[in-house]
Amino acid sequence: MDVGNMWKDCLDFIERKVGKSAYDLWFKPIKLIELKENNATLSVPNRFFREWIEDNYPRLISDAFEWAAKDIINVQFKIDQEPVADVIRKDSVEQTRKAKLAGKGIFLNPKYTFDTFVVGPSNQFVHAAALAVSESLGKTYNPLFIYGDVGLGKTHVITAIGNKVADMLPNANVIYVSSEQFTNEVVSAIRHEKMSDLKEKYRNVDILLLDDVQFIANKTQTQVEFFHTFNALYEKQKQIVISSDRPPKELSDITDRLKSRFTMGLIADIQHPTVELKMAILQKKAELHKIILPEDMIYFLATKIKSNIRELEGCLIKLAAHSNLTGRPINISLAKDVLKDIFTDELKPVTADYIQKVVCDFFGIKLPELKSKKRTKEIALPRQTAMYITKKLTELSLGDIGKAFGGKDHATVIYACKQIESKMENDEAFSKTAEYLINKIKP
Ligand code: ADP
Ligand code: MG
Repeated sequence: MDVGNMWKDCLDFIERKVGKSAYDLWFKPIKLIELKENNATLSVPNRFFREWIEDNYPRLISDAFEWAAKDIINVQFKIDQEPVADVIRKDSVEQTRKAKLAGKGIFLNPKYTFDTFVVGPSNQFVHAAALAVSESLGKTYNPLFIYGDVGLGKTHVITAIGNKVADMLPNANVIYVSSEQFTNEVVSAIRHEKMSDLKEKYRNVDILLLDDVQFIANKTQTQVEFFHTFNALYEKQKQIVISSDRPPKELSDITDRLKSRFTMGLIADIQHPTVELKMAILQKKAELHKIILPEDMIYFLATKIKSNIRELEGCLIKLAAHSNLTGRPINISLAKDVLKDIFTDELKPVTADYIQKVVCDFFGIKLPELKSKKRTKEIALPRQTAMYITKKLTELSLGDIGKAFGGKDHATVIYACKQIESKMENDEAFSKTAEYLINKIKP
């Protein structure tokens, strides 16, 4: 097959996955320069592109190749511009660390350390707890349960614990695993009758870092396996650290016995950062990436970007990548050009699609189920909640809301709103959940 066409197919695949604006910004400028056997070399304009793509879309390009070439292709990047010497040094230190740990079977992002974690009022409690845990494994707080909204530093801080432990105790067995990966491993172990290998792997660690535990909602067998892993580690006083996007009691569809385990140690939450903390983080990130960021831009970005720290960092990297590419300095005018969608997003009204997505994510159900005719409690409650929120936060008519939920009539929507209103009055826990969702969705 023609190499040029193959790359075009890959790009189409990528555009479908990430949407037009991310595609134009990050993927369109990439070129395929060589495809030999199963190795592809891609050229990217500068190192910001490579880092951003590796951190944020780690599997996307290989998935695109797999789809276009029907084969597994190893992807390598070649950077068009010569990087600055300091940056090479930092890169190579990180890569060496990563390789060294990988040699011991430990996979941790080397960038996420306590040194690079900026502390402020919103995260100092989590920071202190994480440090304490890394200095006395299994003794102070076990488990340590960290929760907070997306992009506020949960993965960073739990990885920092892992990196610190790996540094201090070279023989320690550290495992970082996302709940999705853990689930996949359980599924695969069941299928290939390798359950004992899985037990062996997870029950012989010194510290287990389980990221985004909310994803094991509804996955019964994964929960059973994790429950036994937890008990085995706990009994041996091995450290367990768990992250989640919500506190234990709000984890729906996770068994009570597991939830009660989560509350046995310390629960710590990361809150939304203050403007000052956002400014300090921007300064730190600019320093780490060797980006020249004028004082007024630091303030501008810190006040303009409300959502989270990932977004903040993303904007900084986008600006740097484009400033580097075009030679324009980083200033407000570049920001207005490059960060267009962020500035317009803020003004966009809430849509039913968006509400449905947030509600589905929260309850751990799929969108087609939400829009289906199913009346089981697991589906009906999320559906009615989403309808209620749509009525509350959008200008849509009852009929339009019904349509957006898979063609229901307006009486169904009225009924849903009534149900939710009365449930909110009578059920305090549910009322908290609903308020939490509304706050999350509101612009
Ligand atoms: P979460 O896991 O909560 O969704 P991450 O840990 O992935 O969030 O953080 C998102 C990005 O923000 C990462 O690049 C991380 O380095 C950065 N970040 C978050 N909090 C801080 C902090 N306090 N100091 C420095 N960087 C931070
Ligand atoms: Mg995370």
